[in-house]
Amino acid sequence: MKTGAARSRPTGASRLVAIWAERFRTPRDRVRWLLEFSVLVVERLSSRARTEYQWQATAFGRGHPVSGWRRELNQPITWEALAEQHRWLRSLLRELSRDESVDIELDHAPAYFLQRTRRGLHGAALTWERPWKDGFRLHTYESLLAEGQRLRFCERPLCRAAFLARRRQAYCTPRCSQAVRTQAYRTVHAERVRAARRAAYARKQRALLGSSNVRVGRVSRQNAAGIGNA
Ligand SMILES: [Zn+2]
Repeated sequence: MKTGAARSRPTGASRLVAIWAERFRTPRDRVRWLLEFSVLVVERLSSRARTEYQWQATAFGRGHPVSGWRRELNQPITWEALAEQHRWLRSLLRELSRDESVDIELDHAPAYFLQRTRRGLHGAALTWERPWKDGFRLHTYESLLAEGQRLRFCERPLCRAAFLARRRQAYCTPRCSQAVRTQAYRTVHAERVRAARRAAYARKQRALLGSSNVRVGRVSRQNAAGIGNA
């Protein structure tokens, strides 16, 4: 661990390299970052946090350091550019949560490179040669697809938040799972309370009329009108 990293943040390309090492090592890390980013209330972020996200999103969109970029970069993408992709990501996840298919549009045709390495073929999209926005969308597509088995949407209807599931996890958090259980309990409980009330009412009527034949229930319109099937 580089403990001095927080004190003297590296700038430019080396900063992007550091971000990839810290945040984007695996597709799961990248999806985790995307989900965390998607739920941010961007208007409430401090300017420092904004800058941090601008750099992280720049790294995410540009791609992994070995994928061809080693050039100097002095500025991250603008806040406006980031806010636009933030809205795009949110609507993408919303559509997926409704089981709708989503088209991912790029401004430019993607290009890829392949390279022979000691560990076999290495390849990636050439996202330095394209607008950052295209790289952001392309890497969002690739990362979500890579974690497609684990990407789920909370089964609590009021929530529907995206999350990376462990095993058969159906709710995004223990909080949502508890809320659903409480709701189910209340529904069953309310039914029991109604049944108990009906029983108490029937007992009261029997006591009043001195009869054990009193039936308490809904009187059908026919019977109420006195034209029952006699
Ligand atoms: Zn939830």
